[in-house]
Amino acid sequence: MNPDRYADMLAAVQSFHDQHGLRESGGEDLPYRVALMAEELGEISGCITKGKPDSALAEECADLLILLIGTAIAADLDLHAAFWAKMEKLKSRRSRMIDGRIRVSEFRS
Ligand SMILES: [Mg+2]
Repeated sequence: MNPDRYADMLAAVQSFHDQHGLRESGGEDLPYRVALMAEELGEISGCITKGKPDSALAEECADLLILLIGTAIAADLDLHAAFWAKMEKLKSRRSRMIDGRIRVSEFRS
């Protein structure tokens, strides 16, 4: 096992899903997974707004990453390939300052 490899992260999350029978018990239903991811995003937000330590923020980010990988399993999609395809797309995008913060987007208008 190499903790730096996406394939090993995917295998670990798959093992977690298998251990708890998530596929057979509704744990891989996409609307439920979206709700879980929103819940974790709220916890990430709470770390910021409540001034929690970086270790708490890291743990909540890990929760969301694990859910994202699990959602890739549930939806049978290749998140690794999608990540690199999107990074390639992002490299060609322009940035703008909006209300004092940078935004990288397609800026169609
Ligand atoms: Mg959490």
